[in-house]
Amino acid sequence: MTGPAPDEALRAWFLGPRAENADLFERLILESLRDHVFWRRNHHPEDGFTIHESDRRRPGYDDAIARLTEELQGLLAALKRDVPFFSGRYQGHMLGEQTIAAQVAYFAAMLYNPNNVTEEVSPVTTRLELEVAAQLAAMIGYPPDRCWGHLCGGGTIANFEALWIARGVRYLPVALALAARDLGVPLAVRGLDGRQADIRGQSLWTLLNLQSDATLDAYHLLHESAPSSDVVAALDAHSLSAIGYQDYTRRLVEAFGDPLPAGVVLVPATVHYSWEKIVRALGIGAQRMITVPVDGSCRIDPDALWRELTRCAAERTPVLAVVSVCGTTEEAAIDRLDLVVAARERAARELGLTFHLHSDACLGGYAAAVTRAPDGRRLRADEIRSAHGFGWPSQEWLASIEALAQADSITIDPHKLGYIPYPAGALLIRDRRARALVSVDPPYLAPTGDARPQDERFIGRWILEGSKPGAAAAAVWLSHRVIPLDERGYGHIIARTVRGAHRLHAALERNALAPFGTLRFPRPDLNIVNWIVTHPSVTDLGSLNALNDGIHARLSPAANDPAYYITRTRVRPPAYDGAVVPLLAELGVPETEWQREGLVVLRAVVMDPFFGGGPRIPDHVQGLLHALKAAATATLEAL
Ligand SMILES: *Cc1c(COP(=O)(O)O)cnc(C)c1O
Repeated sequence: MTGPAPDEALRAWFLGPRAENADLFERLILESLRDHVFWRRNHHPEDGFTIHESDRRRPGYDDAIARLTEELQGLLAALKRDVPFFSGRYQGHMLGEQTIAAQVAYFAAMLYNPNNVTEEVSPVTTRLELEVAAQLAAMIGYPPDRCWGHLCGGGTIANFEALWIARGVRYLPVALALAARDLGVPLAVRGLDGRQADIRGQSLWTLLNLQSDATLDAYHLLHESAPSSDVVAALDAHSLSAIGYQDYTRRLVEAFGDPLPAGVVLVPATVHYSWEKIVRALGIGAQRMITVPVDGSCRIDPDALWRELTRCAAERTPVLAVVSVCGTTEEAAIDRLDLVVAARERAARELGLTFHLHSDACLGGYAAAVTRAPDGRRLRADEIRSAHGFGWPSQEWLASIEALAQADSITIDPHKLGYIPYPAGALLIRDRRARALVSVDPPYLAPTGDARPQDERFIGRWILEGSKPGAAAAAVWLSHRVIPLDERGYGHIIARTVRGAHRLHAALERNALAPFGTLRFPRPDLNIVNWIVTHPSVTDLGSLNALNDGIHARLSPAANDPAYYITRTRVRPPAYDGAVVPLLAELGVPETEWQREGLVVLRAVVMDPFFGGGPRIPDHVQGLLHALKAAATATLEAL
């Protein structure tokens, strides 16, 4: 990396905790407003004025202005009760500063109010949205000519779409086989063993375990073998999304004699709670979401995953998808996705089973920027370590990030580690052909009737949402222009937050809060630190949880003007055994109490790139330790 320049540029990227860059910010906002005003003033001036100068001197006009001004002042005053995410004292949730680039671009584009449902009403920002998706895809290493992506309201929506598409691809071979039969055409498909066979003769289990690209190849082959409208009708007659689950199962029995057990989705214990909403909403069912335990570092346990896959194969239970997390919401743990990919290959070979692999990188996706040189080259782990100088990351960490390119779909939230204002989530799919399985054509919006390239910019036809802010696309786009998705830009910011988290982790050593003790989860993969506070007089788990709950209550928005902000989480058995059982031994707490109570864990999310401290920067690590000790002392007195 070239000298200290990124560290100097960093000072210009954010408004700053004391609004140090207010003059810059004001200039850019004013310029954006004035530029927009000029646009209006020069748009068909021959139309003349609608609001006249004399209108602006009427009492009713004055009353309206007075109302607006006072109400705004009321709102501005009320907003002071909001949470100070900009401050180094805030380590609550995955929320921090926004980049100036994003804020200004959002404001500027908001004045134009483009709707990125289709380029007809967002000719500029739809293009920006597709560019941004391509940038994120390049960062994680997707093949640029095959992949596709778009922005949306956030990780929940993006994850929903990923599973919606996954389910479509998984069940597509069934529709293909029955449609080919109805149409009376042979249809070759590549099996898991690599051999081509006619899809019409395959068992239901085989059909539900075809590789996605083989399925999509067959899908296109069928479209070539009969008139398009016949193919669409034949597929619709047999597709799950057209028929709905209830009738679909009945038809599977008719066609194959046995519907097989209902499909499952495998997720790690650390999975975001949105996944439960998603399996419920998609009709897959919460009971068909199977939790795989995590290891001591809160990463999915690859052996446990393999056991689950083996069990599914033995029962002939189709696995619709395996979700792996890149940056868990509670711990910022990065699953060993390379090992999950290896398990998928082994399952195809040894079990005749395969699945859609999704990486939920809502939180951690931007960390891939750490691994990119300015020319896009992937950096080696030792190069990254020497650039940032604090012994991070490991070779295994890099392998997990590199494996993102093997996932069928990925979700990344620009409104988390992209430092973009809400709403900005992103979905990326490896094979763009899969989006056809969820597309719908509204007659009033579609520029043309079919999936030709000119439809590319009618994003609404491929996605769950309809209207959505072009301003969000402009915000992400300008931020990526100013802060590149490599080691100089986002990589630099994120490495600094990880360094800050590691510093806090080190500072929370056992006696840091004496007479209180601390116990930590292992050093995090990214920027979240988890720990508990102990005291010699607190010996049972119920009281220990009460102590940590009390500390949290004093360092959260619930308290009156807390000195610092942290969050807490309650982890539970058996999913978290891997992470918690080693701590129980140190605590001398019997496992039966853990089974009953779970464990309250304190959590600090380091979004502030200055948190790690340095010359002429407030030392919030020490500040947080003092606040913790004060909160612990006050809580113990009240227990
Ligand atoms: C935040 C998060 C989500 C949900 O994203 P929203 O933008 O809040 O909808 C999903 N998965 C993970 C891992 C997350 O951290």
